Amino acid sequence: MKYTPEKKPIYGETLDSLAQHLTAAGEKPFRARQVMEWLYKRRVGSWDEMTNLPKPLRAWLAEQFDIQPTRHVLTKEAGDVTDKLLLQLGDGSLIETVIIRVPQEGVGIEHSRKTVCVSTQVGCAYGCKFCASGLDGWKRDLSTGEIVSQLLQVCFVEDARTPRARPEIPSFDNIVVMGMGEPLANYDNLMAALKILNSDWALHFGARRITVSTSGLVPQIKRLADEKVQFRLAVSLHGATNEVRQQIMPVNKKWPLEELIPAVKLFAEKHGKMLTLEYILIEDINDMIEQAERLAEIAIDLHAHVNLIPYNTVEGLPWKRPSLTRQNKFLGILKSRNVSVTIRREKGHDINAACGQLRLQEEEKRQPAADSQ
Ligand code: SF4
Repeated sequence: MKYTPEKKPIYGETLDSLAQHLTAAGEKPFRARQVMEWLYKRRVGSWDEMTNLPKPLRAWLAEQFDIQPTRHVLTKEAGDVTDKLLLQLGDGSLIETVIIRVPQEGVGIEHSRKTVCVSTQVGCAYGCKFCASGLDGWKRDLSTGEIVSQLLQVCFVEDARTPRARPEIPSFDNIVVMGMGEPLANYDNLMAALKILNSDWALHFGARRITVSTSGLVPQIKRLADEKVQFRLAVSLHGATNEVRQQIMPVNKKWPLEELIPAVKLFAEKHGKMLTLEYILIEDINDMIEQAERLAEIAIDLHAHVNLIPYNTVEGLPWKRPSLTRQNKFLGILKSRNVSVTIRREKGHDINAACGQLRLQEEEKRQPAADSQ
């Protein structure tokens, strides 16, 4: 499904593209830099606040561009470590953006490190069996502006919570592109968004602090390997043999491990230590000793870090999170092979922060109203 908004999101413009629009409208191109300064350094949410722009120019910008391509409609909090923002797009679709705080010793939670998890599509076509985002299928790709706007929404939330000493600095430390959707299926819009975020006239956010996740789209992984900008890559493996992976990730039929691993290796060779293998531990499905041993071999071959994630229960699915003993046994096998490994005790479990669940619940709540119209 394609959505063409009445006005283009301003966050989808680059400094050059905005300067071109302004020039074509008879304005001075230097105004583009002023607009970007207001958007990304001072982070205002309306055209009227851009007080060094002439009023007619502000009116023209308001006619041409949407400054609110996402609207923040709901926040769900888990303790004080995870906030899930539900955002509504111009066509009424809902997406999720998550702020994950990592508490630091000796400082209050408001000064903790923050990772933002960003969505790239409405729904998802890939149907990984552990994930709520794919339950309703794919609706559409997010535009570049809608992707960038999610990060600005996070800035608005965080800036209100903890005013910044230096306003131009981003309000978070890392970006992981792991929210709703398969990021590499929306490759062009995503890359354009990440390059905007990375630009010095925008948030100037370091590429090495941005991780792009994929369920394993081989052609796009090869494309990513050729990008000059050094983003990190996280591959959702979740099974160390085709037989096991296929039960969890239908994408494995199209791109089995014998195709996926060489593509990932190509990325690793070009980008050094920028690779993580994600592995959700599901009881009796992929948490067996042989899987741990095979996973260790793959990780060593790829020089990859392994991130183990005990399974998050999804309503309607029969799978279970392994006991702590089983989790630790799996972890121990990887450690005994000297694999770089961490286990993520999932934050946000108690607010349905698993990918896509909050959005699904809200869609369901809206359903009766929509049906009765
Ligand atoms: S895990 Fe990612 S790729 Fe798989 S269904 Fe969920 S959103 Fe799609």
